[in-house]
Parts: sequence; structure tokens; C-alpha cells
Amino acid sequence: MSEKAELSPSFIPQKSPSFFFKKSKLFASIFFLTAFSLSSFPSIASCASEFITIIREPSAKESAKAKVRVHEFHTAIRKFSLENSKEVKLIKYGNVADFELLRLDINTASNARAPRILITGGIHGNETLGALASFEFVKRFMSKPELKKKFNLVVIPATNPKALFLGSRRYAEGVDLNRLFVPSDKTPEALALKSTLEDQNFAMLLDLHGGPTRQHFFSVRAAEDNGLAENALKALPSDLVLESNNGQYPGRMGLPSHPDRYLMPAKGVAESKLVGTFKAYGFDELKIPYSYTVEYPMRNKIEPSLGYYVDLIEAFLLSYETKVLKSN
Ligand SMILES: [Zn+2]
Repeated sequence: MSEKAELSPSFIPQKSPSFFFKKSKLFASIFFLTAFSLSSFPSIASCASEFITIIREPSAKESAKAKVRVHEFHTAIRKFSLENSKEVKLIKYGNVADFELLRLDINTASNARAPRILITGGIHGNETLGALASFEFVKRFMSKPELKKKFNLVVIPATNPKALFLGSRRYAEGVDLNRLFVPSDKTPEALALKSTLEDQNFAMLLDLHGGPTRQHFFSVRAAEDNGLAENALKALPSDLVLESNNGQYPGRMGLPSHPDRYLMPAKGVAESKLVGTFKAYGFDELKIPYSYTVEYPMRNKIEPSLGYYVDLIEAFLLSYETKVLKSN
């Protein structure tokens, strides 16, 4: 588990966006005034330029720059699939604006009935590390024969390319893709994803996110999981994993008054079936028995978070083997 993913920093900004910037221009102005008054704050100008796309609509020049990052990411994915074309199949399942929707089907297992794991990244476009970690995990998976022979993967690294391009949770006013997996929704990204995944069997879903106000990794399961997630999170250093507060999630979403309340049955393991999330859709509609949202600490530095994130994905697969395959 100590092996760290090779970093590919050119795809993403080097600092995680602060959640303060998402609120409003007013909030951003207050932040800048405060920041300028703090002599210890490093290089205000460089920080500001990195966050600029998420406090207002990007200019054409900035859009072009941001767009290159998503296209570069897709180019790297394409190149990887060509280099590994015997086992990795690239499928284009749609278009959004001028971005392609791409999935990688990785069929390496010797047994035709081997568990098929679905991994999605970048549903929230400001939670960039999930997108990157999904692709870094594919590279690790392909380098590990003992994993390859036990599992098959379907990986969608940039599920919401328009939001990734904007560096924003929402790609338009009020459009949060991770609340739109409901029957009535007609959003192109959600429709394309539903249609490319329907009538397929998956053993486990890992939808990779980031928690902007949290310092820790944790997962949100859709239902009781025989300790699978708890066991997986033990692969990380204990102080990087979110503690349960006596069975309650230690934040706003753990409050009894919260309409989408999370419970937290174990360290690093919250539980919720928040309607419209992809994880809930995976559990309810795609009938994936082990469906998770996975969260990394966006306030921590990208390095070493990416390496830990890739370790955690691998640990989920190994934990599936321990808790599901071996116990059957
Ligand atoms: Zn998210």
C-alpha cells in the first residue's frame, strides 16, 4: 500500500480551490481584503489567478486554457488505452458541448464471472483529484497481475467534463450533477451516463469526490456493507481518516435537523441514500450492492493526497475480496 501514484500535475491546478470562493463575488472580495491584510499570506497574486475561474465566468482566454486541461487529460487517457489495447477498451459514450464522454473498459480477469468494479471521477468539477485518482488507479491496476486476474473495471475519469473545465461544482446555475440522477432529469451528462451503464452488472461502485470543508478521507455507503468500507479505510494512516462522533457524522450533515442527514456507523464510514446522488442511483437503479461516494480532504495538499487516494481505491478492491468473495 505504500507505493505512491505517479503524479500528473499538468491536468489540474496545483492548489485545491478554497470553498470560500464558491460563495459569491462579495465573499471573494471580503476574502481578498482580509488576505491582503495578512502579511504572512504567501503570494496573493498567484493564489488569486488559480481560483479565478470559479469566482466568475471565465474569459475566452481563460476558458481556452482550462479546456486544454480536460482535453489533455482525455488525450492521456486515449494514449494509455492505445498502449494497452489488448486489455483496455476506450468507449466514447457521448458528447457534452465540445467535450467527449469517455469510459475505459478493462477486461483482465481470467474468470468470466469476476467482479466488475465501476469507478467514476469528476462529477463535481472542483473535486479534481477524484478524476485524476481514477486514471492513476487504472495505471496501478494494470501494473498488478494479482489484481488484474481477480477484477474487471469500468472507469469514467471525467464524468462531468464541463464542470471540470470550469473548475466548478456546478457547470451552470443550480446544476449539480450529483443531485440529478432521478427519473425526471434530462441533463445530457446524466442521461448519457445512465444509458451507457444500463443493463450491466457491477459488483461495486466507487464515485470519487472531495470534501471541501474536511481534513479527512471518508466514504458514504448506500447501505450496510459487512464492514467493507471500514476495512478499506484502515489502509490509510489513521489520522487521515474521519472519526465518527458516537455514530453521528461530525458535521452539518450529521445534525438531526438536516434533511439529508448522514449517519456515521464507523470511523471513515458515513451512510446516506441522498436522492439524486450517483451512489444512490447505483444502489437503487443499477442494483450495485456496494455503492460508495468516496471523499478526500480537499484542504490538504494534492501531494500526497493523490497517492493516498489511489491506495484507498486499491484497498476497496482488496476489501471486496476479503469481505464478499472470501465470505461466500
Ligand atoms: Zn462532490
